[in-house]
Amino acid sequence: MEYLVSARIAQLQVIDPGEIRRVQLVLPQEAEIAGRRFPLRDMMRPGTAFLARPWGSRTEKYRRRMYTRSNSSSDEPGVLETFINHTHRPQADTSIWWQSQTADEWKKAGKGIDVRVIVNESQGIATVYENTVMCKESNLRLEPDGEWEERRLVCVAFGTGITPFLSYVHYLAHGKWENKKRGGCGHMTLIASVRHEGQLMFHQELLKLAEQFPSYFRYIPVLTRSWPSDWPSYTGRLIRARVLPSGEEQIDLSGLHESVPDLSHCDLRLCGSVEACQQLMQGLKNENICPVTVRKESW
Ligand SMILES: Cc1cc2nc3c(=O)[nH]c(=O)nc-3n(C[C@H](O)[C@H](O)[C@H](O)COP(=O)(O)OP(=O)(O)OC[C@H]3O[C@@H](n4cnc5c(N)ncnc54)[C@H](O)[C@@H]3O)c2cc1C
Repeated sequence: MEYLVSARIAQLQVIDPGEIRRVQLVLPQEAEIAGRRFPLRDMMRPGTAFLARPWGSRTEKYRRRMYTRSNSSSDEPGVLETFINHTHRPQADTSIWWQSQTADEWKKAGKGIDVRVIVNESQGIATVYENTVMCKESNLRLEPDGEWEERRLVCVAFGTGITPFLSYVHYLAHGKWENKKRGGCGHMTLIASVRHEGQLMFHQELLKLAEQFPSYFRYIPVLTRSWPSDWPSYTGRLIRARVLPSGEEQIDLSGLHESVPDLSHCDLRLCGSVEACQQLMQGLKNENICPVTVRKESW
């Protein structure tokens, strides 16, 4: 049985008009499910996704869609934040709706979005459903506490692929780095690759965190299509692919090597378009570079 609870649309911030929005859905403290009232508990692990039922502009129906959470349940319990981009695929349905004025009207009218929860009868609580409960190569659920501290994470995000890593940063910064956790705080490099400056998500906050915690966190914003003349970080694609006359695809990772010179000693995490993630993996294979661990997720 699938249980759904209506969440209030609290934020629909335009990041790039018609392209990317920051969405916040706020769950009630308790909900009536199957005739009983249950307190709602939010224990989502960073790097996991929740399931919601937004409207599909194309199909004119409610659809079930997964969204990776970008904030942390430990900082903001019950507030499900994510970044949603218009996919521009011919079948695009809900991703267009989120960018539309209709979504703004729903927010204004106080119309909710259903979010999936799991009922635990024995404990008498309902918890927010998470898409994954195990760390695997094909997902980005953060390793359990006591494990991630040993890692040197290099997280490469393409576009809204930054969402799981934003959740890592919020969890690690506010829960661990700020308290200088005993036994180590690991290290995280975040590479955020977007088309132009306006698409950078939480840019100022990430810059500040990198300044505040230089021993634990490095932030590398990359602009691929256009950039201000005085842009202080990287520009152009860090991973370049070109098709040779033979039809073979040649991958050039020199931009990536320049920003992170020792990829073979890191725990590589990738998120974003299938094509970009595949090209990066192929480039590493061609150069015989084997990071300590690799985990990736594409939508
Ligand atoms: C784990 C996970 C996390 C994600 N996190 C994010 C995120 O943080 N931000 C973000 O923007 N997107 C995220 N996505 C993608 C998101 O769920 C949507 O797929 C995306 O927003 C595009 O939605 P869409 O409705 O426009 O198009 P699509 O989801 O591509 O759907 C288009 C059409 O394809 C068909 N279709 C889609 N799925 C199915 C299916 N399973 N079976 C049959 N037909 C189907 C339907 O006819 C639908 O109308 C995530 C996906 C997954 C799996």
